[in-house]
Amino acid sequence: MTVAGPGHDAPITGEMEWDSAMYREAAAQFEKVAEMMSLDDNVRERLSRPQRSLVVTFPYRTDEYSKVRTAFGYRVQHVLTMGPTKGGIRYAPDVNLGEVAALAMLMTWKCALVGLPFGGAKGGVRIDPHELSRTELQRVTRRYTAEVIDMIGPQKDIPAPDLGTDEQVMAWIMDTYSQNQGHAVPAVVTGKPPALGGSVARREATGRGIISLLPSAALRCGVSVDGAQVVIQGFGNVGRYAAIAAAELGCRVIAVEDLSGAIHNGNGLEVGRLARHVDRTGGVAGFAGADSITHEELFALECDVLIPAAVGSVITGANVGAIRAKLILEGANNPTTLEADQALQDNGVLVVPDVLCNAGGVTVSYFEWVQDLQNYFWSENEIVSRLREIMIRAFEEVLEVSIKHKVDLRTAALMKGIKRVADAKLVRGVYP
Ligand code: GLU
Repeated sequence: MTVAGPGHDAPITGEMEWDSAMYREAAAQFEKVAEMMSLDDNVRERLSRPQRSLVVTFPYRTDEYSKVRTAFGYRVQHVLTMGPTKGGIRYAPDVNLGEVAALAMLMTWKCALVGLPFGGAKGGVRIDPHELSRTELQRVTRRYTAEVIDMIGPQKDIPAPDLGTDEQVMAWIMDTYSQNQGHAVPAVVTGKPPALGGSVARREATGRGIISLLPSAALRCGVSVDGAQVVIQGFGNVGRYAAIAAAELGCRVIAVEDLSGAIHNGNGLEVGRLARHVDRTGGVAGFAGADSITHEELFALECDVLIPAAVGSVITGANVGAIRAKLILEGANNPTTLEADQALQDNGVLVVPDVLCNAGGVTVSYFEWVQDLQNYFWSENEIVSRLREIMIRAFEEVLEVSIKHKVDLRTAALMKGIKRVADAKLVRGVYP
């Protein structure tokens, strides 16, 4: 892809180190909105590329002591203008610089959109966390932390959980960083266990944040919340808590999928019992009181709300025609390809985009960081009510932009996020 334009000294081409299908999509999305906003050319060029990218390879010992393997690690900071950078670290067998750079860009818009004082970042390690033992995972995490240690810090860049990482991984990062500093530094990561200064409601935050938008979004597309049929792809950090919150709201969660398979019960799954089944068996498959269905069938189910809450690019040109949901709440990052997004709009499906819909996670991460810096911890009620307030306000503001400019919610959300970053860049100017 080449992006022309007066300010582009180095055109965005396939020769960029972070080039990938996913980066090209994120950049194309940005360029489309930048064009609509008539964004300043200089700012546009700066924002179309990540500011700092680090690629490392590092060794780790397997449990068979004499065997050493090499892993690839990444950390990308997209914009350093807004404050420290913020974003998760994913462990996945196919993660690469292009994916991490695209997700770092999305984090910038997400943080700006909800008004957090952060630029976007993302990290990744190319391993399959399910194949590694706990001790191997700990060694990988500590060595990766050591490799990126100069880039991270409470005032520099604050990692958090993402796909394939959890509270325990954050605890190991916090410990490794703290050992190197010589004192405890809780604010270097968020999504830690509460015993280390983690926020009590962080684990549930992304899922709860998604569902806090369900009533307002449902109103826009004629769905009644009570008894609404909800389908969720993913039952991990995000999907599990979205399912619990949806059931609490009175919706019927009729189907769920994770790595073990997909299950369906038209009368509604008993979500609490399903969560216990997953804790016991490791996956949703085999849950009594539900039929097993295929991945394709899950996406084609007649339902009111579809929540992709796992990996990226699951709603594509290939399956978008089969989707019968009226509302899509994007819990995952980048679950919809550009082509599918256009088709959903044409079919009249309302999509609440990832940068808005899953911002609850980073919002409670922000609360956690503030609490760590002040050594003053808030109650769960306080956290949950502030989260709701921020999410609903962001939704209302995005809706207003979308009505004013006659654009879809994704475009409106990006317009709002990009504008905030562009304004900051313009007043900071160029050094020297
Ligand atoms: N990984 C999450 C996201 O993509 C959370 C990031 C954070 O809490 O910093 O939004």
